[in-house]
Amino acid sequence: MLAFRRQVAEKISIVVPCYNEEAVLPMLFARLHAVAPTWGTDYEIICVDDGSRDLTWQKLQAQCQQDPHWRAFSFARNFGHQTAVSAGLHFASGDAVVVIDADLQDPPEQVASLLAKWRAGFEVVFATRKQRQDPFVKRVLAWGFYRLLQKMTPLPMARDAGDFCLLDKRVVAVINALPERSRYLRGLRTWCGFRQASVEFDRAERAAGVPQYTFKKSFKLAMDGLFSFSAVPLRLATYLGLWVSGFAFLGVVFTLAQKLFAAKFARIGLEPGAGFPTIVISVLFLGGVQLICLGILGEYIGRIYDEVKGRPLWIIRDRAGLTPPPPPPG
Ligand code: UDP
Ligand code: MG
Repeated sequence: MLAFRRQVAEKISIVVPCYNEEAVLPMLFARLHAVAPTWGTDYEIICVDDGSRDLTWQKLQAQCQQDPHWRAFSFARNFGHQTAVSAGLHFASGDAVVVIDADLQDPPEQVASLLAKWRAGFEVVFATRKQRQDPFVKRVLAWGFYRLLQKMTPLPMARDAGDFCLLDKRVVAVINALPERSRYLRGLRTWCGFRQASVEFDRAERAAGVPQYTFKKSFKLAMDGLFSFSAVPLRLATYLGLWVSGFAFLGVVFTLAQKLFAAKFARIGLEPGAGFPTIVISVLFLGGVQLICLGILGEYIGRIYDEVKGRPLWIIRDRAGLTPPPPPPG
């Protein structure tokens, strides 16, 4: 009886970030339309247009007019994928929210298996990639990044899990309440805790259009993940400093010995030289180490600066498919 009541009353939200996705949208509409009846629940689909410069927004508007399940928001500019998903979570009203890419790399047919885990009592269900169809270099970098992140943070970060996931409304409420600007959502959903489960899936190839995650954007995401969830890089400066000081001390002992026992050193071919290359190498080495440490400090300070400014995370330019706001009084 309880299960039946939940079945009737529940509603799920599907959040789809879209950036220049006009080519893939007709396929997305068709695939979600075909699969939605299998969910056995009321649903809404929220698309966030992340400042596209093609016909993405026009296509989303038309879809929202045709189908009352669809809602869409457009950003005033490109704020980035993680911000688009954050906005989608903010506007979602479902009991569970599923985050899915627009390019159909996360198959909509897989949503049913996420829902099954949620109905079994898990509040965070993330999809883990069994295999990726991405280019070789991207696969290698992703492989290295997930493992590095796991080593550097105490949180149990899942390997090879992307943004494709289901979040219970309690988890969504926690994430929405987080004020931080640099949003690495895979980390935030792990940080939330609750009962977490994973579902394996084969990540498909992009159905149409071109990847919108440039190398620069992927690199920024990786940096956000590392610097928002780990203080290990800060400690790196201490370790580097200790190692360099250790070597410098050995160098001092060696040079002194060379001066004091010049004859003995000369016999084994280690007479004191002019010293110029040694000085250049030490100066460059120390300079390099100091710049790395400064850069690491800069990463953290830049993030603090972003937080302190307190600018809004996104700016909405337009919306579609929502109940029109009441007319102004008078
Ligand atoms: N995306 C976005 N803003 C961006 C870049 C990407 O909203 O600045 C969306 C994009 O439309 C897609 C999802 O994020 O729905 C994943 O992007 P993409 O497929 O290009 O990344 P990849 O799958 O190659 O990692
Ligand atoms: Mg993709």
